[in-house]
Amino acid sequence: MLKPGVIPSVEPLIRVGIVLPQDEQKKITTFLSNMCDYEMAVDTLTFSTCEVSSILFTIENNAIVFKIDGKSYEKVNKVVFRPMVEDAHITLDPVISGREFHWRKYISVKLPGTVEIKVSDGRLLVINELSLESYLMCVATSEMGAACPAALIEAQTVVARSWMLANVEQKHIALGIDVCNDDCCQRYQGLNNVTDVSRKGTETTRGMVILYDGKICDARYSKSCGGKMETFENLWENTPLPYMQNIPDMPEGHTVPDLTIEENARVWILSNPKEAFCSSATIPENELKHYIGACDDEGEYFRWTVEISNEELSANLRDKLKLDLKEVLDLQTRKRAGSGRLLELGIVYHDFEDRVRETVVIKDYNARLVLHPKFLFSSAVVIDKVGTGDVPKRFIYHGAGWGHGSGLCQIGALGMSLKGYSTQEILSHYYPGSRYKKIYK
Ligand SMILES: [Zn+2]
Ligand SMILES: [Zn+2]
Repeated sequence: MLKPGVIPSVEPLIRVGIVLPQDEQKKITTFLSNMCDYEMAVDTLTFSTCEVSSILFTIENNAIVFKIDGKSYEKVNKVVFRPMVEDAHITLDPVISGREFHWRKYISVKLPGTVEIKVSDGRLLVINELSLESYLMCVATSEMGAACPAALIEAQTVVARSWMLANVEQKHIALGIDVCNDDCCQRYQGLNNVTDVSRKGTETTRGMVILYDGKICDARYSKSCGGKMETFENLWENTPLPYMQNIPDMPEGHTVPDLTIEENARVWILSNPKEAFCSSATIPENELKHYIGACDDEGEYFRWTVEISNEELSANLRDKLKLDLKEVLDLQTRKRAGSGRLLELGIVYHDFEDRVRETVVIKDYNARLVLHPKFLFSSAVVIDKVGTGDVPKRFIYHGAGWGHGSGLCQIGALGMSLKGYSTQEILSHYYPGSRYKKIYK
């Protein structure tokens, strides 16, 4: 596992969670690339895999159960497949993609490295241990399509490597893994999407990271900033990171008005500034499909509109905030961060005794969570009410961007790479003041 704050001098091994206990999965099937490619350890026993092609593992009574050649194994705690040849891989089926999203689906994934199958509190836990560079080769294209220009794949790979090694978040440390396989950390689908381009992008940037003040940058990224980047402190902890600032995602010399002023934010969000690298003028949205990974919902990323009925919004607010709330009277965008994202959202509502009450939701993530049951694309929104009388029938969200908008803007970086900017230019645009450096051979 990685150690936070430590800059490795050799390539580290990392542990990725593929099936998590929260998935509540009861079975998984493994298929080996070739018979004899693996050594299989079942608790303390070790087998060669020459007699094995596929195995179905199920969880029963807090233990792993499986059969090989008609022989049953029960009450097993842990099974480990260790590769004995270089290009060995294991296919696992099924694995969740889009764990926390409405479009979640099950796919099969082809994994390099070691695979561990375990039980955690009666539930299945599958971990893939592999070298950081093999992981990155898979991540670069799991996140972005293989048609992307080399500079984008390289920039994305350096960012993914830096984020991994900065290792600040440690969301799943209790499970003994560095990251999970999904958007909560970084989307990883094993060798499924590896291409010559992603292989090359990883090889040409091997060991390269971005550093600031002698530390590896906590290089966050999102799909689309909406035209202006957000700062770290407005989204996460209140410690500013100098390399994440409110900068226009545009060529040098362009400016964006102060979006913390409500009138400016309204004009900005309702307009379509075509100078932005992530704008639909730089890359028409129907062309994004060639570049952005196949697992996403289709949609507009730069500017979009979403409607919600008062009933659906009220139900979501009752669910997420546990409020005694009958209907919403008003949604007020009270305080905005530099990219137009919300720092404070006021919700005025009737309780079930028709008393007028109000509550305030703080920060981008929470605003996105309460505004829509499917987690709103971005909190940089202008909200219109529809209907006559005191109680609006519907609310219309006019939004900018997709995701938190801090650090590398994936669609903007794509725009830059299509315009001919280099890997290093892209990195210093999104992480100003950072230094691009090789830390291991
Ligand atoms: Zn995660
Ligand atoms: Zn952008």
